[in-house]
Amino acid sequence: MYTGLIDKYRDRLPVAADTRAVSLNEGATPLIELKNLPALVRKKVSIHAKFEGANPTGSFKDRGMTMAVTQAVEEGARAIICASTGNTSASAAAYAARAGIACFVLIPEGRIALGKLSQAMMHGSVVIQIRGNFDEGMRLTQELAAALPVKIVNSINPYRIQGQKTVAFEVIEALGDAPDYHALPVGNAGNITAHWIGYSEAAGESTQALRASAGMRKYRTPKTLERRPIMLGYQASGAAPIVRGRPVENPETVATAIRIGNPVSWQQAVAAGRESGGWFAECTDDEILHVQKMLAQAEGVFCEPASAIALAGVLKDLELGKIGEGSSIVCTLTGHGLKDPDTAIAQSAKPMTADAELKAIERVIRERLK
Ligand SMILES: *Cc1c(COP(=O)(O)O)cnc(C)c1O
Repeated sequence: MYTGLIDKYRDRLPVAADTRAVSLNEGATPLIELKNLPALVRKKVSIHAKFEGANPTGSFKDRGMTMAVTQAVEEGARAIICASTGNTSASAAAYAARAGIACFVLIPEGRIALGKLSQAMMHGSVVIQIRGNFDEGMRLTQELAAALPVKIVNSINPYRIQGQKTVAFEVIEALGDAPDYHALPVGNAGNITAHWIGYSEAAGESTQALRASAGMRKYRTPKTLERRPIMLGYQASGAAPIVRGRPVENPETVATAIRIGNPVSWQQAVAAGRESGGWFAECTDDEILHVQKMLAQAEGVFCEPASAIALAGVLKDLELGKIGEGSSIVCTLTGHGLKDPDTAIAQSAKPMTADAELKAIERVIRERLK
């Protein structure tokens, strides 16, 4: 029976042989080949979606949270704290509930997707809405964690990054190799750092990003890879600090999960881009929403707006010729579409209303079958 990523990858993570994992059986998410989309955009490429929305709380944050909360509990912590654009708080709240410890979350007032807010509330965390954005919440959270007996579980916590690196191991196992390109959204930049560490460890290569994990328990990742992928990081045009090379004071985007103006793991992300020969680029909100819908309707895969930017960026860079035909590409779809029902409904055709009578409904269906 699969019991989560700590049990599965224990020897490749900084945990002891007898550490008891706080787990919800996260990881082992589907790698879905996109069968219709390449033809739709007239490109001969292989694209796989790593559907992280299939994690227990609906985003990749669970990979990091199982490690961060396991470590916090082992250190004797009674409470955790995080700043969040939504999914970190949902995940932290669930894993804290599982561990029987308290959870405090700071979120930007009114700027968090409904599904995520409902999760943080339902799991019984203390939700503090601040009149400010994520970056301000992040700064406050670091100060609070320094002053109070609460463990910070944002991705500045190196155990988060360690858990999240396992996504690369799963891709390698599924494909038997690294893809040519691995694309993902970049917000606070922890996840691209984690992907790159995972690939680098599997390839027996060093990376500047890995230095952040110094001082942890020793572990050993076996070499299973001959080459690493080229990493592609995409940011929303209204929140693209890394692409533009300077912090964004008032980040704005429909992709609220990546509405971040001053990412904590900026340097590590840049190192991942440089070391892999990759790049950072941006997409507009319209491009993001267009691709989110296209993916839902052409492939049956429903991800949240922030996740869709991975594919939106790839399609744009294919069109620009920056990614060549014949390439193999993996896009990490970071969170489930159900996280943000408001955005999904706002851009979809409204349901029609009919009398509860056979003839009326039959007419509607006949019309559509033409
Ligand atoms: C957290 C999150 C991101 C951004 O990940 P970072 O590690 O902060 O760069 C992207 N998409 C979703 C759905 C997220 O929850």
